[in-house]
Amino acid sequence: MTEELFREDATARQCEARITAVDAAGIRLDRTVFYPHGGGQAGDAGVLRLADDTELRIVDTRKGEQPGEIVHVPAPEADLSMLRVGSVVTAQIDWRRRHRHMRFHTATHLLCALVPHPVDGCSITADYARLDFHMTEPLDKEALTQGLARLVAEAHPVLHRWISEAELDANPGLVRSMSVQPPRGLGTVRVIEVAGVDLQPCGGTHVANTAEIGPVIVTKIEKKSAKTRRVLLGLAEPA
Ligand SMILES: [Zn+2]
Repeated sequence: MTEELFREDATARQCEARITAVDAAGIRLDRTVFYPHGGGQAGDAGVLRLADDTELRIVDTRKGEQPGEIVHVPAPEADLSMLRVGSVVTAQIDWRRRHRHMRFHTATHLLCALVPHPVDGCSITADYARLDFHMTEPLDKEALTQGLARLVAEAHPVLHRWISEAELDANPGLVRSMSVQPPRGLGTVRVIEVAGVDLQPCGGTHVANTAEIGPVIVTKIEKKSAKTRRVLLGLAEPA
């Protein structure tokens, strides 16, 4: 198991960690600030800094085959021969990229509040966010952009807490997403609350207040199928 420091503190940019395994898939650490691709959110990139200040570039982060395992995927040119199991490294994420993930991810929660229909697909990258809603009615691009601007300007706090699976089962309305069900069997489920706006189970990383999202716009609405409307979000500044 990798200790997932990003779950309790999404703003942690680096940590010291011990290498537990190195293989063709990548590098495993005993703890990490790197978020692994999941729940629609892209995996983190960054560097592992060795004791002699050598930096090894990490281009992606993935879940391992075993539950709770996180694999740091090195750049193709990386020389893994210098890594020793048991040695300590500093794991540092590309914060600019991650913060864009956090801003987009939190914006998708606002979109869920504006479009009260089940979600059946989601993708969050540094360049855009994409959310598919299971619905037949048309959506208005300008109205959604204005709705997002209002929720950003209202500066709602974003909080996380853990609830029991029994509590989740008693409130099935909490599960918005049809494609991503919260992980089961651990006893508790992490829920994200945008105060007064949205509450749903989510394991991703979010900003602490909707004001931190900044200017976000609906760039496109597509009729993906008879029963799916796809909404694409962009940030006002370039990537
Ligand atoms: Zn989320």
